Amino acid sequence: GFAPASRISTIGVSQILKIGARAQAMKRDGKPVIILGAGEPDFDTPDHVKQAACDAIQSGKTKYTALDGTPELKQAIRDKFARENGVSYALDEITVATGAKQILFNAMMATLNPGDEVIIPTPYWTSYSDIVEIAEGKPVLIACDAEAGFRLKAQQLEKAITPKTRWVMLNSPSNPSGAAYSAEDYRPLLDVLLKHPHVWLLVDDMYEHIVYDGFKFVTPAALEPALKSRTLTVNGVSKAYAMTGWRIGYAGGPRDLIKAMAVVQSQATSCPSSISQAASVAALNGPQDFLKERTASFQRRRDLVVSALNAIDGLDCRTPEGAFYTFSGCAGMLGKTTPGGKRIETDTDFCAYLLDDAHVAVVPGSAFGLSPFFRISYATSEAELREALERIAKACAALR
Ligand code: PLP
Repeated sequence: GFAPASRISTIGVSQILKIGARAQAMKRDGKPVIILGAGEPDFDTPDHVKQAACDAIQSGKTKYTALDGTPELKQAIRDKFARENGVSYALDEITVATGAKQILFNAMMATLNPGDEVIIPTPYWTSYSDIVEIAEGKPVLIACDAEAGFRLKAQQLEKAITPKTRWVMLNSPSNPSGAAYSAEDYRPLLDVLLKHPHVWLLVDDMYEHIVYDGFKFVTPAALEPALKSRTLTVNGVSKAYAMTGWRIGYAGGPRDLIKAMAVVQSQATSCPSSISQAASVAALNGPQDFLKERTASFQRRRDLVVSALNAIDGLDCRTPEGAFYTFSGCAGMLGKTTPGGKRIETDTDFCAYLLDDAHVAVVPGSAFGLSPFFRISYATSEAELREALERIAKACAALR
């Protein structure tokens, strides 16, 4: 019979995908399901980006490219880091991959030896710990709850560092909590890292453009130049430019690390899609003003969702600084009984109830390593959000 390799034996198909598949199946059966589970903007890829891809096809940019990014795209990324983040990377300190997910994968495969530890604050984007485990490293999860603003504190970091620590992974704004680190939030963490030169920092800036209320996004390589030689700054076009299907992610970091990551990539994908790379050049070099409009629209939806959730007895939602998710506490629902007579013991039970009875698909905190919470992705129309929240309110009121 078939037996999977031990390196993937602990890794299941993501809970998010499972809930999504169930919700889609219910929809096909004619149930009016509203899915608030997807991690992608509901906007379309901008026209000038699509046009650049068509031009690339027509002009024959349809072959293998340089291993870890075309010179044009690396230049566009270099300009972006300088212009938007105040960080200067040389072209050979930049790498491009098939999504930020592959960037993370390349980085872990290129650096972890079996048993090396990676510190990951929870709640975290589910792939972080799975990628570390595939690379045979050991995720060290640290709970950062709502009272801490879902942010890692310096004392927690200090305590978690051991001689085996290889990386700390930070994500701001965060999927799933929407929490972001200001310069003041980062400072004490960077000071801890300065004292531990064997620890490297991976920052995932994927949602940098989606921040609210004038929040000032910053990235550690700019804040603390002394850490730049052991920081990998990860970003991509998926969320900012509504390009999740184009599969382009990128990173800036020290030359030796970038080179080692290219070795992994050379035996995995050879290079990212030539057409998607040409489109990404247009996205990074083109007009950026539509980002503000889109963010304003996300902010209206955030406000709608947060206030509707907090109006429900037993739910508690912190106002996120960015991304397009709310991560709401549901401790008040545990121990209650559904109209069908089921007892709600966990956030997974609560989310199953919302899907079955209210036909709203959301993702339990357990998928992100912190319970009892649930994540709503509000990258969907205001009308759908209003309807979904009315249903959630009704379902919550029906619990005894
Ligand atoms: N990082 C975070 C925090 C994310 O939420 C995602 C996608 O959901 C990614 C990285 C991966 O993005 P991609 O592989 O599409 O570039």
